[in-house]
Amino acid sequence: MQEIQNTERKKACVNCGAELKYRPGTKNISCDYCGYQEAIAIDESGFEELELYPYLNQMGAQKHSEEISMLRCKNCGAQQHVEENYKSLHCVYCSMPLVLEDSYKEDWILPGAVLPFQIDRKKSHRIFKEWIDNLWFAPNNLKKAALDPKYTKGLYLPYWTFDAKLIGEYIGQRGDYYYVTETYRDSNGKAQKRQRRKTRWTNTSGTVSGFIDDTLVKASKQQKGRIPAKVAHWNLKLLQPFNSSFLRGFVTEKYTIPLKEGHLVAEKEGERIAERWSRQKIGGDTQRITNLQYSLFDETFKHILLPVYISSYRYNDQEYRFYINGQTGTVSGRRPYSFWKIFFLVLFILVLVALFAIFAK
Ligand SMILES: [Zn+2]
Ligand SMILES: [Zn+2]
Repeated sequence: MQEIQNTERKKACVNCGAELKYRPGTKNISCDYCGYQEAIAIDESGFEELELYPYLNQMGAQKHSEEISMLRCKNCGAQQHVEENYKSLHCVYCSMPLVLEDSYKEDWILPGAVLPFQIDRKKSHRIFKEWIDNLWFAPNNLKKAALDPKYTKGLYLPYWTFDAKLIGEYIGQRGDYYYVTETYRDSNGKAQKRQRRKTRWTNTSGTVSGFIDDTLVKASKQQKGRIPAKVAHWNLKLLQPFNSSFLRGFVTEKYTIPLKEGHLVAEKEGERIAERWSRQKIGGDTQRITNLQYSLFDETFKHILLPVYISSYRYNDQEYRFYINGQTGTVSGRRPYSFWKIFFLVLFILVLVALFAIFAK
């Protein structure tokens, strides 16, 4: 098993010496100044799933762990890592300046895979601008307040994915519907007929088994940056074996939900899957499960990084955040309403109604 090459922290342009950054939508790093490009060496053997139990028991002392430098935001507590050298940084969640002198080293389980950004910063900003332009009742000066590209940041979010084999045993009942005709009296005292649904129950039991692939569990505790469900869908088929070059030019968040905790979520999900499989196997129109035993084995996991753009903007002393999926471009955000725009619209409608009432007489 080969070690992942992750030691070349500095990647400079051969022409002008500037730092190279990952170019979204490609497998290259490139220079912002002279356009020089370099292909990222991708491990063609693919990514490996790591056996779960050794990591649950003794984290840190593993071959796939490494030290990275982290910065913690004093304002919101987010922990972020930036691959290339930088002179100044703002927190990706709250836009507060980060104190570079406070950077510290920390162990992390190396990502097994990364989903590289497909949308570049310019395009993400265009999407943001369009979204704002299409808002009804948005305050006029919001456009000015929000449109500083400095505040749109690309962030790799940490997730765990788990694979496992599942075996389950269920005891329950299969329900089949049938209908009977019954007679009743309506409010006029007349005899009427109607169909009534009934269920015939049959006892049953059996086993289910199968492979659970890629249960995705978020690894970020950030409450402020909770990604809206609408944005949090990525096509994981396009994951690439991890190479730190994909992180260049973006911020990476370190997992704050430890592997152990993430695994508990995956186990719960295993229970739901065992139940779903059992219901399918029982069949019929409806099912009852009175006893379900299941176990997961041959469990493996990966630490993966998934791309989003976050724009945080302040308006009237309130903080608003806007999210773009860095792969698909799906957007979601919270927005302010202009009191005056809505006030005048309501007034306008009231005047119309009043005029109509006067002339309709
Ligand atoms: Zn250059
Ligand atoms: Zn912050």
